[in-house]
Amino acid sequence: MIDEKPKRGFTTAILHSDRDAVIEHGAVHKPLHLSVAYGYRDVRDLTAVFQGRAAGFAYGRQGNPTSAALETKISTMEGGVGTVTFATGMAAIGAIMLALLRDGDHVVSSQYVFGNTSSLLLTLEAHGHAVSFVDATDVARVDAALTDATRLVFVETIANPRLQVADLKRIGELCRARGILYVVDNTMTSPWLFRPKDVDAGLVVNALTKYIGGHGNALAGAITDTGLFDWTKFPNIANAYRSLPPRNWGLQQLRKKGLRDWGGTLAAEQAHHIAVGAETLALRMDCICANALALAKWLQQQPQVRTVYYPGVAEHPQHALATELFRAYGGLLSFELADGVDSDAFLNRLRVVVLSSNLGDNRTLAIPVAQTIFHEMGPERRAAMGIADSLIRISVGIEDRDDLIGDFRQALA
Ligand SMILES: *Cc1c(COP(=O)(O)O)cnc(C)c1O
Repeated sequence: MIDEKPKRGFTTAILHSDRDAVIEHGAVHKPLHLSVAYGYRDVRDLTAVFQGRAAGFAYGRQGNPTSAALETKISTMEGGVGTVTFATGMAAIGAIMLALLRDGDHVVSSQYVFGNTSSLLLTLEAHGHAVSFVDATDVARVDAALTDATRLVFVETIANPRLQVADLKRIGELCRARGILYVVDNTMTSPWLFRPKDVDAGLVVNALTKYIGGHGNALAGAITDTGLFDWTKFPNIANAYRSLPPRNWGLQQLRKKGLRDWGGTLAAEQAHHIAVGAETLALRMDCICANALALAKWLQQQPQVRTVYYPGVAEHPQHALATELFRAYGGLLSFELADGVDSDAFLNRLRVVVLSSNLGDNRTLAIPVAQTIFHEMGPERRAAMGIADSLIRISVGIEDRDDLIGDFRQALA
């Protein structure tokens, strides 16, 4: 469970984070800064910003004051020392791989990862990096895959769509003992349910598009440095950044080589949408998790449903682990219908639930997985991820519980 050490509670800290800084006209939201260029009266200030000796803004591709305010919020939520935001979650994950890996490096990844992350890792393989996909519910599989060339280990907290829970704490202990960078994608749990820093993660990824933004109206991603990884042990830091204090090396390289050079910049308007959504993360998440647990238990009792996958039910293989690690069990669940139940007809009868591929929206969303988001990867890779053709994924929202369960009841009838 989460150790609540910060001076202010989670939600208070998010709500007042903008006002803690000097803010124009007393506005309670950080204003939208749309300027691409930032001008200086003294050329010495300009050069100091460019050389990383002074804080400030240079060119909008490397960030703007509005996205910087959001970065402060994410760092507060994750207990990190700094954050870099990106236009999407995938831009953030791509930046980690492109900015931090060199020729000959090896990556160990959970085999249960977001479909596009899996696709990105296959592209890395095609570019000549060695990638091992392992069952991260078992630390021994991760241990067995490590080599002298392993530069980073990548896992998600709760996997989408089959809800496997990674052995987060033991993998963290392993990475610390071996001096390997441990990257945890916290999207599915969000910092309200889990802080990867508590299990020794060096970098935390959040697709802000999902629960932190929460309203399905803006794309964004973030990388947070927890301050726990010793960057002097990382061989791939460019000389240009080694004059900074070592704790800044990783984020500096990610901001420069990852964000500036690849250009996946978060626009100020989008940063504002995410920041407004973040204010209610804890409230929404509590409601979503309670709805998801109730729906999972209800579905388990229906004769038309064969299997329900949700870490909150006792039958889930990592139920005890999830109880130990997370405040609650998250908003995603999946299930398989019994033989003979027409899946398409069932989905078409849903009225409250939206047929859609997003997750982490306030609205409940449903999608048949093998035919859509995991279609491109083919049957073999789906089988390795435990994805049956009949699997239906539900991203649970904040609807009134009776309306939600009532919709499933009428659609199954
Ligand atoms: C959605 C998602 C991403 C990618 O985020 P985008 O903002 O859609 O690019 C990465 N990881 C996980 C676990 C996700 O659910």
